[in-house]
Amino acid sequence: MPDVLIVGAGTGGLAAAIYSARAGLETLVVDKAYPGGQIAMTENVENYPGFLSISGPDLIDKMVEQATHFGAQIVSEEVRRIVPIDGGTFQVEGTSSVWDVKAVIYAAGATPRMVNVPGEKELTGRGVSYCATCDAPFFRDKEVVVIGGGDTALDEGHYLTRFAAKVTIVHRREQLRAEQILQDRAFQNQKIHFELPYLPVEIQGDSKVEGLQIRHRDSGEMKTIPCEGVFVFVGYDPSTGLLARLADLDDGGYVKTDDNMRTKVPGLFACGDCRSKLLRQAITACGEGATAAVAASHYVESLSH
Ligand code: NAP
Repeated sequence: MPDVLIVGAGTGGLAAAIYSARAGLETLVVDKAYPGGQIAMTENVENYPGFLSISGPDLIDKMVEQATHFGAQIVSEEVRRIVPIDGGTFQVEGTSSVWDVKAVIYAAGATPRMVNVPGEKELTGRGVSYCATCDAPFFRDKEVVVIGGGDTALDEGHYLTRFAAKVTIVHRREQLRAEQILQDRAFQNQKIHFELPYLPVEIQGDSKVEGLQIRHRDSGEMKTIPCEGVFVFVGYDPSTGLLARLADLDDGGYVKTDDNMRTKVPGLFACGDCRSKLLRQAITACGEGATAAVAASHYVESLSH
């Protein structure tokens, strides 16, 4: 029986794996895709201590190397169910495996939110994208629009200017939500233009994106921005559906834990972007992953007494 099963191989899950495996616990990390989570889609990370600048994929490669070096095993499978068993252990069901484990650390993160306007679903992959790092090279010398005014929108918008001829950021308020350093950088970038305060109305195009129709929040004035790409960065939804009947969730669907990452179910811990908290960053996910692993090791030890 593995001691600890970690759901999700983003920064939180991998940090938990490093601490858990290094503490001598048999550690299994299960991720529905490749290790990495959201940061794997980030071109340039410049606020992770110790690195002035590192790409998301490089940071993840180092974490995977470190976790496996200490003995963690990483498997690619989607976790479907987590069932607490009498005696304080768990049965975890994946798409093709069932694991009996002593403790579970839930680090499944969050997924990009849709803006829910006509044309979005139909044109996803045909000009509508949720990942600049993945898709920006397709828009070399083209005009693109970014929807959103948070850190992600400005970060990714800045990255898009390496390829696109023009990047228009459409945000629903006059005031951007992003941190000041990202705003300053965007305002200085000649390729970035703003449409404030405008709401997205429809992504237009038959087989591919041709424009974004927007409406002025106050005057109701409508106009269309011709473009070949629309990048949607309007926040994230926590991937916590599996915990809905197990743990307490906040109003946004994020998992509630105590300071030691314990949910209300003994032996079930949560860390990273799926957790209810102020700051969702790699550094906070890693700190929580470390705490969850140590708390889980105490729990595993308590089972044998
Ligand atoms: P966010 O901070 O929640 O911002 C979402 C943006 O989308 C807001 O500007 C919001 O407008 C807008 N929005 C939401 N729903 C909308 C809708 N239906 N229609 C139009 N606009 C809509 O999300 P995020 O930017 O993805 O950031 C998520 C977390 O990751 C944050 O904690 C952020 O600090 C962190 N992050 C950090 C960095 C960095 O440090 N470099 C980079 C990326 C992400 P309002 O402002 O009006 O609500």
